[in-house]
Amino acid sequence: MPSTTHAELSRLLGAEHVLQAPRGSPYNSDSSRRRGVEGHAQAVALPGSAEEVAAVVRWCYAHDVPIIARGGGTGLTGGAVPTEGGVVCSLERLRRVRELEPALWRIQPEAGVTTRHVQRLARENGLLFAPDPGAAEQSQIGGNVATNAGGPHALKYGVTGAWVTGLEAVLAPGELVQLGGWARKDVAGYDLKSLLVGSEGTLGVITAVRLRLRPAPEAARAVVVFLPTRAEGCEAILDVLAAGIQPSALDFLDGETLQMVAAGYPGAVPAGAAFALLAEVDGTHAEVQEGRRELVDLLAGAAVAIEEEVDGEALWRWRDGFNGVVTSVRGAKVSEDVAFPLERLAEGLEGFERIAARHGLRSCAWGHGGDGNVHATVLVDPASESELDAAEAAGEQLFALVASLGGSIAAEHGVGWLKRGRLAQQWDARAVALHEQIKQAFDPKGLLNPGKKLAR
Ligand SMILES: Cc1cc2nc3c(=O)[nH]c(=O)nc-3n(C[C@H](O)[C@H](O)[C@H](O)COP(=O)(O)OP(=O)(O)OC[C@H]3O[C@@H](n4cnc5c(N)ncnc54)[C@H](O)[C@@H]3O)c2cc1C
Repeated sequence: MPSTTHAELSRLLGAEHVLQAPRGSPYNSDSSRRRGVEGHAQAVALPGSAEEVAAVVRWCYAHDVPIIARGGGTGLTGGAVPTEGGVVCSLERLRRVRELEPALWRIQPEAGVTTRHVQRLARENGLLFAPDPGAAEQSQIGGNVATNAGGPHALKYGVTGAWVTGLEAVLAPGELVQLGGWARKDVAGYDLKSLLVGSEGTLGVITAVRLRLRPAPEAARAVVVFLPTRAEGCEAILDVLAAGIQPSALDFLDGETLQMVAAGYPGAVPAGAAFALLAEVDGTHAEVQEGRRELVDLLAGAAVAIEEEVDGEALWRWRDGFNGVVTSVRGAKVSEDVAFPLERLAEGLEGFERIAARHGLRSCAWGHGGDGNVHATVLVDPASESELDAAEAAGEQLFALVASLGGSIAAEHGVGWLKRGRLAQQWDARAVALHEQIKQAFDPKGLLNPGKKLAR
C-alpha cells in the first residue's frame, strides 16, 4: 500500500471527500458486526460522480490497491468490509435520480439512492418497485443489485435482478461501461448486466441502475394463518401453490419464533398455534377479495385460526422487527440465510432444529416461506466462546444439510466474507472453475473486493 493513497485520492476527489478509517469506524464493518467481521480500510473514498468512481478505481488498480464498493452497509455477510485492507469506495454521494419516466414505467437512480426512495418514487407515480429487503431506509439500490436482494414480495415479483434492464458500472482497470439499456428485449451478446447482479462488488462498481417498474396493484390485503404444527404449516405452503393461488407474499415463522415475537403481534396469537403464515394477496379489489377467499377456504381445515382483518402495514412492521426481538432474547444470535426446494422445506426445518439441539443451542426459524427461504437462527450468549463455537459448528452442518437437500447456502443475503469458499458445496467443479475464470476476466489483478464471494 503506497503511503500516498490518501493524498492521491484527495487530489482526485478533494480532501473533504477522503476519510481516514481508524479502528471502530463504521466503514470498517457492516451489519455482520455482531459476528465479529471487521476490516481495516487505508482510506475511504467518497466520489461524487460516476466519473470520479472511475478515477478512484483507475488509481487503485494502477497501484495494486484493493477496492471495496460500499452501499448502505446493511449487508449481513461482511461483503462491504475491507477484510484485506484497501480503499472503501462508498457510493453514498451518488444520490441523483437521473431519469423517472412514469409513462414508460422506468427509473434510473444512481447507485447511492436508498431502496426506500426508489420504492417511494414509484408509489408516488402509481407504480411499483417490489423488492423490499428489510433495511430499506439505509440500503442502497447499488447494494441491492450487487447482492440481488429479495424480501417478502420477491415471491410474486422476483428479486432485484428481475427489475434490472441495464447497469452503468466501472470495470477494471477503471472504465465506465454501460451494460444493457432500455430495450425491453435484448439478446445481442451475453447477458453481462446479469453477471454483475449479485456479484457483491467482485466484478465491478455499479454507479447507476436502469429499473423497469410496473403499475401498482389497486389493493393489497394481509391474512395471517396460524397452524398447529410445522409439518402442517409447510404442507399449507405447498397446498397454496398447488391450488394455483399466487400470493404477493407468503412469509412464515415457526413456533419458537412465534413465542418470542408474540407480544408485538398486532392482534392475538391463538392458543395451539405452532407455526404462522403471513400471506398477502394483491391486485384489483375484486382479485384481492377472490384471492383472500380462496386462501381462507383452502387453509381453513388445517388452521388453528385465520385472521383476516389484520392491518397490513402493522403486520409488516412487526415482521421487520423479528431480528431485533430475537437478538434480545439472549443478547445475540447467529442467523444463516439459506433456501430449500419447497418440497424439502419441512425436512430442512426439522433437520436444522435437530442440528442445533445436538449442539445444545436453542433455535428458531422464519423467512420467506413461499420461496423456501429460511433464516435459520440459533440464540447465543455473546460472552460465551463455547456457544459461539457451537453456533459455527451448527452452521457447518446446516450448510451440508442444505446441499444434500438440493438447496442454496446463500438465498438472498449474499456470500460476502462469512460464506466465502463454499461454492464447491453447491456447484459442480467445472462450474466453480468457470466462476473463477469469470472473476479473472473481469478482475485480472484480483483487486475488486478480494476475499469475498469466491475466495477459497
Ligand atoms: C434488518 C435487516 C433486514 C434485512 N432484510 C433483508 C431481506 O429481507 N432480504 C434481503 O435480500 N436482504 C436483507 N438484508 C440484507 C441487506 O439489507 C441487503 O443485502 C442489501 O441489499 C445490502 O445493501 P447495502 O446498500 O446496504 O449494501 P452493503 O452492505 O454496503 O454491500 C453489500 C455488498 O454489495 C457490494 N456493493 C454495495 N454497493 C455496491 C455498488 N454500488 N457496486 C458494486 N458492489 C456494491 C458490497 O461490496 C458488498 O459486497 C437485511 C439486512 C438487515 C440489517
